[in-house]
Amino acid sequence: MVENAPESLSFPAWPQFGDEERTGLIRALEQGQWWRIAGNEVEAFEREFGAHHGAEHALAVTNGTHALELALEVLGVGPGTEVIVPAFTFISSSQAAQRLGAVAVPVDVDPATYCIDVAAAERAVTPRTRAIMPVHMAGHVADMDALAKLSADTDVPVIQDAAHAHGARWQGRRMGELGSVAAFSFQNGKLMTAGEGGAVLFPDGELWQEAFLRHSCGRPREDRSYLHRTSGSNFRLNEFSASVLRAQLGRLESQIDTREQRWPVLARDLAEIPGVVPQGRDERVDRNPHYMAMFRVPGLDEKRRNELVDVLIGKGLPAFASFRAIYRCDAFWERAAPDETVAEIASRCPVTEALFQDSIWLHHRVLLGAEEQMHDVASIIADHVPAP
Ligand SMILES: *Cc1c(COP(=O)(O)O)cnc(C)c1O
Repeated sequence: MVENAPESLSFPAWPQFGDEERTGLIRALEQGQWWRIAGNEVEAFEREFGAHHGAEHALAVTNGTHALELALEVLGVGPGTEVIVPAFTFISSSQAAQRLGAVAVPVDVDPATYCIDVAAAERAVTPRTRAIMPVHMAGHVADMDALAKLSADTDVPVIQDAAHAHGARWQGRRMGELGSVAAFSFQNGKLMTAGEGGAVLFPDGELWQEAFLRHSCGRPREDRSYLHRTSGSNFRLNEFSASVLRAQLGRLESQIDTREQRWPVLARDLAEIPGVVPQGRDERVDRNPHYMAMFRVPGLDEKRRNELVDVLIGKGLPAFASFRAIYRCDAFWERAAPDETVAEIASRCPVTEALFQDSIWLHHRVLLGAEEQMHDVASIIADHVPAP
């Protein structure tokens, strides 16, 4: 469809790569050792990614879902515990908890930022709650001040699902400087990528140590005698992926600069369209990497929203329907589900009920386009949004 779109709508391709990735891959290849225990690329990437986010302790893993699972496990999440997650998120947020046998408890989100409603999270805390997982939706950092307070008051740790938030900042602080664990994804569509991959930032070295053991079958780094000290699995990242991610990290900040310039232009245009509301911004978020360009068309139901997405795709926009409310996915109910019905959860998540049906997102490569293209994007949307 993009081939038939007007010239003005040929957005940059994603992922982006060049000689830096090529050189990295050959460097990894020519080491002659392609796993992290014998090579240098994964370790170098951990140092660089950690330093970039203000964290001393970074662990690279196979993907973002495993990053969440591992982080939850070292925080003590398992059978008999509960993890509070936003109802509006990608399913990995809840699946990671449920894989560990913990009950995922969905709570509502904020109607403007689409991030976890901290008052709703507070109401959901029980003696079994072992972690609270904010998701920095589309790059917008959740209210980390209120979450830090809730965590201090309840003694329940926060784990940030930062799969959309590479390079984000909250009141001058980077994702590794907020005092909690942060889990990232490097899947193909994410803001840095090697096709697949993930990382966890830890606020202290002890948690990192335990995570290292668990991500490598419970085996200490220098072990040669099969001394498996803890239970675990194999979540190790390979050397090729790390070499690509080192190059991708070098592209991140200038890409964020571009998206941070484009989004206000697009958001201003979108806000002028009757019936359209762009994702809002808490002023305390002083750097938003913009994983998605999101907006709502309040009043649309799922079917009419999906029809609108199809029309926008037909006009050359890389548009997508938003995540479904997690409690409305069959996967959510297969194991470790809460002792509540869909209707009961829906009735305490009114924002999610509307948002998952009336919101649309555009791929972040739109925000890497030229400034004039932002006006073209908005005018296509204006031409096809149903009258309010
Ligand atoms: C992409 C994503 C994940 C999972 O990452 P993978 O690397 O695809 O496993 C987790 N949470 C959110 C919010 C995501 O968007």
